[in-house]
Amino acid sequence: MKPILREWLTEAEARGLMKRVRREVSPIHELAAVGKLLEPQYGAFFERVAGSAIPVVTGLAASREAMAQSIGLSVRELPDRFNDALTRLTPCKTLNREDGPFAVKAHILTGEQVDLGILPACLHHEKDSARYLTAALCIVKDPETGIRNVSIHRHEIKDRSHLGALLLPRHTNQIFRRAEALGRPLEIALAIGVHPALLLSSQATTRLGVDEFEIGGTLLGEPIELVPCETVDLEVPVECEIVIEGRILPNVRENEGPFGEYPRTYGPRAPRHVIEVTAITHRDTPIYHTIIPASMEHLLLGGIPREAAMLQLVRQTTPNVKSVHITPAGGCRYHAVIQLDQQYKGEAKNAIFAAFASSSEIKHVTVVDTDIDIFDTQDVEWALANRVQAGRDVFVVTGAMGNKLDPSSADGVSDKLGIDATIPVDAERGRFQKIHIAGMENIRLEDYL
Ligand code: MN
Repeated sequence: MKPILREWLTEAEARGLMKRVRREVSPIHELAAVGKLLEPQYGAFFERVAGSAIPVVTGLAASREAMAQSIGLSVRELPDRFNDALTRLTPCKTLNREDGPFAVKAHILTGEQVDLGILPACLHHEKDSARYLTAALCIVKDPETGIRNVSIHRHEIKDRSHLGALLLPRHTNQIFRRAEALGRPLEIALAIGVHPALLLSSQATTRLGVDEFEIGGTLLGEPIELVPCETVDLEVPVECEIVIEGRILPNVRENEGPFGEYPRTYGPRAPRHVIEVTAITHRDTPIYHTIIPASMEHLLLGGIPREAAMLQLVRQTTPNVKSVHITPAGGCRYHAVIQLDQQYKGEAKNAIFAAFASSSEIKHVTVVDTDIDIFDTQDVEWALANRVQAGRDVFVVTGAMGNKLDPSSADGVSDKLGIDATIPVDAERGRFQKIHIAGMENIRLEDYL
């Protein structure tokens, strides 16, 4: 698979996954509203966006199926292939300036020319403080090791050349603190308009010191090609549409937010990091990508890597686990359903403990048997209705670490709930069997209508 956004867009359109919007839309709420109404069945390509010459795409891979297809995989193959990519990295290929000219360098804006206002950045939700960049790969290098880190953060547009950034206590933040301790800014490059596989690999649950582009390389089956930036000592994917170069300023914090986030609540306004932009480079008629917060595109980018990590960990303690689903209604963070081919008494509870251990964000875990489709919430609720006795099957752990964005938590301190919705191992299984109309799976309705 070529890691090229434009090639995937052509294919997504051919597969009927992408709608083209020719009418002009406003980037203030209107674009997000139309994109949200089309997802998860369709992504949207907006040809004309008011106030900018640049078209906008959203919902690059708006469903689990589309996400898998963009990498040439089936939904079933995705978690194992993702875990494989985590352990078998593919080094990137860095191109020299002489290998150019590069399309992404067709326009190079520096100094006074820098103007974030050329971008069709969107105001998504009603109470958002400003227009935000939501789909930029954020590339930095550890000042101590020189190893690259790739992630996604939200960026508030403050003025022509300044961005706010929410750096949660993860790798970019950790790396920035090392630079800040030395009194130095941290150079940063934001790459907009990249292939879904690069977005997905940037969300991998991995240790500091792994270059997420090397995960993407394995996922796509070829090294990711990078080109040097103009004003910072960093490299960006050669096949991207727009690059913003700059530095995160040391000892500077400014208010950022509120911003509508993945759990469908607003993250509060608070003092946060500031990026000074030193250059913008882009293609001729570039494509700008926005991820609508809390859309399926957003949720799955977080959910799929988390499912892969959970599956690996849960299988270590409970090998009979078949698959896991971290569900969208829980923001692809809080709720997990585990499918287990239970052989021994108590296995389901062990699987639940391992699921809690896979991420502090996991709050409620349900385990079901292999006759339940864990991607079908109706079927999971059916198992809750028919296979659970609360006094026996439900347990609570109080006062664990959760997620601060959960408004029901005490500033991130949260209870955890486990539900064993499996048939007891020693029960008479016939009583739990689902009804079935014999031969229904062979009926073709068009033969009758
Ligand atoms: Mn990382």
